[in-house]
Amino acid sequence: MSVQRPVTLTDIRDAHKRIAGRVTRTPLRLSPYLSELAGHPVKLKLETMQDTGAFKLRGATNALLNLSDESKSRGVIAVSTGNHGRGVAFAAKALGIKCAVYLSELVPEVKVDAIRKLGAEVVIAGRSQDDAESAAFKRIEKDGLTYVHPFDDPHVIAGQGTVGLEIVEDMPGVANVLVPLSGGGLFAGIAVAVKTLKPDARLIGVTMDRGAAMIESLEAGKPVPVEEVESLADSLGGGIGLDNAYTFDITKRLIDETLLISEDDIASAMRTLFREDRIVAEGGAAVGVGALMSGKPDLQPGPTAIVISGCNVDMDRFLEIVG
Ligand SMILES: *Cc1c(COP(=O)(O)O)cnc(C)c1O
Repeated sequence: MSVQRPVTLTDIRDAHKRIAGRVTRTPLRLSPYLSELAGHPVKLKLETMQDTGAFKLRGATNALLNLSDESKSRGVIAVSTGNHGRGVAFAAKALGIKCAVYLSELVPEVKVDAIRKLGAEVVIAGRSQDDAESAAFKRIEKDGLTYVHPFDDPHVIAGQGTVGLEIVEDMPGVANVLVPLSGGGLFAGIAVAVKTLKPDARLIGVTMDRGAAMIESLEAGKPVPVEEVESLADSLGGGIGLDNAYTFDITKRLIDETLLISEDDIASAMRTLFREDRIVAEGGAAVGVGALMSGKPDLQPGPTAIVISGCNVDMDRFLEIVG
């Protein structure tokens, strides 16, 4: 067990320099429709345009660049709802590192295929993230691969935090940030960056109303298990880990508001993003827009940024939803 040290703005700035040129600096684009709805400027942080189609490449790239040469030569292993595995597989390929990705049966085929195409070894194990994780840990004991955690790792959190750094750079007056919330790597990283630079900014974490692991854990005052159920927001599924070391504490300390979104609201947010802003977003990426449209978030006066975290959705399914 490594000594726990808080993730700082300096870690995030270092990560930003380290991953520059290996990931895309995504645009923060005005949504005229959502701005009109909110009564103030609303801009969308488009991680849908990130390489691999989701922000997870930032944390994965930062984590892999921080490995020792010995760990690099043995290879890495990831457990994922899809996007983290794809990010790790992409970064591993770019750096010439061997990579295995463990996935549960709930992971959509479109994500599984993309990971295979990147040359990673794909193993489908069980019905949940927990099942896939147990299988991966057995493999680690056997082969000594280095585990790249999907969220509860300081390098991963710092990498995801570069999203927050870019939001403040591009919108210095930012008053509210809406962030999709699952394991909390994205939220924790963004929160450290934004709250350090703009202590008065309001940070809102949004997730689906089924299997909301972080929000249930915050309410319980400690990490609790949740049942993983099928959702349009498949990338937000899974627990936060009962031995959570980083994201639970950071999220608890820095979150101002939590919101739960129904499946109907997720579908309607995907439709709105597509029809009004011409953006293809996966369910988990659209929850911030769903929250804004519901009128529920308690927003401060001033501009709002919404993180649109990824675009990896099965196209036939997407066209059914937005059609
Ligand atoms: C992983 C993921 C999230 C949630 O990130 P966490 O760090 O687990 O909270 C949100 N949206 C997309 C598209 C993701 O892939």
